[in-house]
Amino acid sequence: MAAVKLTDIMKKRQLLSFELFPPKTEKGMSNLSGTIEHLREFHPDYISVTYGAGGGNVGANREVCRMIQKAEMVPVTHFTVIRNTKEGIKEQLKAYLDEGIDHILALRGDFPRGENSTGGDFKYATDLVRFIRNEFGDRFEIAVAGSPEGHIACRSLEADIAVLRQKQDNGADYIMTQLCWNMEQFKYWLDAIRKAGITMPVDVGIMPVLDQAATINMALSRNGCVMERELSRIISKYWIFPNPFDKEPFDDALEQKKADFKKAGMEYTIRQIDKYRSLGVDGIHLYALNKWKDVTEIINACGMCTRV
Ligand code: FAD
Repeated sequence: MAAVKLTDIMKKRQLLSFELFPPKTEKGMSNLSGTIEHLREFHPDYISVTYGAGGGNVGANREVCRMIQKAEMVPVTHFTVIRNTKEGIKEQLKAYLDEGIDHILALRGDFPRGENSTGGDFKYATDLVRFIRNEFGDRFEIAVAGSPEGHIACRSLEADIAVLRQKQDNGADYIMTQLCWNMEQFKYWLDAIRKAGITMPVDVGIMPVLDQAATINMALSRNGCVMERELSRIISKYWIFPNPFDKEPFDDALEQKKADFKKAGMEYTIRQIDKYRSLGVDGIHLYALNKWKDVTEIINACGMCTRV
């Protein structure tokens, strides 16, 4: 059994956790230990580490997990089946366990660009969850992805919820959600999954709104997330001309707009966290984007820092 059971903690109180990604450069990697130290001040219940689909960053992923362990916190590794064989998965999972990493977010992963299959032995996250349970019993605590608006490729929200139920039936322990700015949709989904017999705790993923291009990109490039009116207004109000993706924007007020957008985006994120917390969700999982200063400001403003 995993040494720390996050689901047991969730029975008692709301979790606070962060997500980091392994930096691509050595400099980024050495800066990350400082970031982890700063995040530690909030006593997060865990820090999760992304996994490049196809396993391209496995080494870096494990290194970041080790850095989190060294700072005496619980790492949760993300893991995908993309281009992974059964044997390869078994080996990698064993290596995690040998290093004391016994928390995993079991994902399918996004198909590599231009392809329409996983290119590995498994087709879905449900297969991975079953495999982990069959091979390793209860040694891992397993999180799975949940999409309050439905996964972008799902046939229907109902079909997606049925899959989530299957993840639970196959042995998953709790849900980490895809970002969702639409609170009414979130409430509808939460109600619907409970009616479907899904009792897993729900740890809500929140992406801080800090940068215009990154926000639009995250919502639309892969996930098809609805941007509610309040967020759209902030984007319009500080729109960078000709568009936020332009490498050389001609906007005269560029720096001011970036700063104003960030301020308004952080305030928006804080209000969103308030709403999720007041709904009684089981955890707040901040996609920290490796930015501890912004995260610190958000957490302090939310009052979550009183737990320190
Ligand atoms: P699945 O649950 O397998 O679902 C994929 C699609 O197939 C859905 O439309 C579903 O409805 C459908 N489906 C599932 N099972 C079945 C079935 N048995 N029969 C028919 N249809 C089925 N990606 C990364 O590459 N690295 C990361 O580190 C990473 N971190 C993430 C963290 C979080 C919190 C979340 C929410 C997502 C993350 N992702 C990451 C993205 C994720 O890999 C993608 O969203 C991916 O497209 C789907 O993964 P999944 O586990 O939800 O897939």
